[in-house]
Amino acid sequence: MAKTKHSLLKGHLVPCPQCGKDVLDHMTECPFCHASIKPTAYSPMDPAQIKKIRRTLTIIGMIIALLVFLATR
Ligand SMILES: [Zn+2]
Repeated sequence: MAKTKHSLLKGHLVPCPQCGKDVLDHMTECPFCHASIKPTAYSPMDPAQIKKIRRTLTIIGMIIALLVFLATR
């Protein structure tokens, strides 16, 4: 259990280009030496894509609500 959690955490760590210490990949600044880090693994989401995902989630939510309504009738 703990091993899985550790490996999962390890996947989000990148070595700092300045000091070489493990830094979380979503960080833009090293907490150890305050060097700026280019986010390589992380890329900001496209606003149009977020809108699309949100719309899809709304539709899924409506379908679930409808199914619950039909099931409990
Ligand atoms: Zn550093």
